[in-house]
Amino acid sequence: MFLTYKDHKIILQEGQSVLEALLETGESISYACKQGVCQSCVLKTVSGQVPTASQVGLKPTQKEQGYFLSCLCKPEGDLEVVDCDDLGFKVPTSVVSLEKLTPSIYKVRLKIEGDFAYKAGQYINLIRPSDQLTRSYSLASVQAFDTEEIELHVKVFPGGEMSNWLMSLSEKDSVEIMGPMGDCFYLPSFKDKNLLLLGYGTGLAPLYGILKDALTQGHTGDIHLYHWGNTPEDLYYQAEIDSIVSKNAPVFYKTGLEALEKDSLEAAPHLSGEACVVIQKDLTDLKDWKIFLCGGEAKVNKARRIFYLAGADLSDIYADAFFTWQKPQVGAEKVS
Ligand SMILES: Cc1cc2nc3c(=O)[nH]c(=O)nc-3n(C[C@H](O)[C@H](O)[C@H](O)COP(=O)(O)OP(=O)(O)OC[C@H]3O[C@@H](n4cnc5c(N)ncnc54)[C@H](O)[C@@H]3O)c2cc1C
Repeated sequence: MFLTYKDHKIILQEGQSVLEALLETGESISYACKQGVCQSCVLKTVSGQVPTASQVGLKPTQKEQGYFLSCLCKPEGDLEVVDCDDLGFKVPTSVVSLEKLTPSIYKVRLKIEGDFAYKAGQYINLIRPSDQLTRSYSLASVQAFDTEEIELHVKVFPGGEMSNWLMSLSEKDSVEIMGPMGDCFYLPSFKDKNLLLLGYGTGLAPLYGILKDALTQGHTGDIHLYHWGNTPEDLYYQAEIDSIVSKNAPVFYKTGLEALEKDSLEAAPHLSGEACVVIQKDLTDLKDWKIFLCGGEAKVNKARRIFYLAGADLSDIYADAFFTWQKPQVGAEKVS
């Protein structure tokens, strides 16, 4: 089987994904999660068939045009593929501001320099122009209020490639984004349902957008927002959320830390212990609730399991697990 990309013919091994084959031959392809979630490795077919499974999560219009997720694509015949950035899939932006919220979390505002429609709570892929380094970030803004700019909340990790590069940018510097993606957003049909929003660290970003969006759309059910962290540095936007809570009766808001020293001075404003344990004491029956879980992968996956066992329907749980990037492996055969 042959895979053709940029005039190169690559031998595709049985069971090998298009992304694996391209990375092994040294092609510079955007990717992040390698699990069909972040959608950063989208390519387009020119000829040949892609399996339906490699188009899961794409919009009908994108499927129609031959877009597919190269990490999930294991073709059964020859395939010719191209990048899709000449089709307007990427959107240019420029930096408006970087604002420190805690010692390691920054609010990043970007001006959109083109057409870009999204729902609050979705995420984008941010691309470093020099080498196509790609990472996903959730949208904390609501388009109805913020028509020209988007807001991201970025945790800066020691040695983190993208987060540290972002912090080195200045006003008006260019950044590309791709998206929007993800199904963590509010729908009008949720209006009278109770909402449980649980965010770990910068997992608050999409939830902040969803909260504002729900209230703007006249939500009538209760809304319980839990913001959890490992240290007080992970918790931010308390004044902003307190202000929303004070004006909107059905919103309840709690912050907490997973492992807190009992006599710590930092304990005062926050609860302590596992978020799921606290929530299970507060909310005994989650049947029919709409649940949004955002933050680190392990915590989100655990919370999903716990709330499912507590009576929530899996189809009512919307989760954005913040996967971390995996390094590529090199060394495959290029024949031309
Ligand atoms: C759907 C989705 C949405 C996301 N939304 C956001 C968001 O709104 N805000 C945000 O800050 N991030 C978000 N992320 C995570 C983000 O994409 C990056 O993984 C993160 O910013 C680290 O990238 P980096 O290049 O700075 O670090 P990398 O160079 O990828 O990693 C460097 C080192 O940092 C540490 N590290 C990286 N990520 C983590 C982690 N999650 N937990 C613990 N240690 C880590 C590890 O030690 C790693 O070796 C999201 C991820 C996904 C998949």
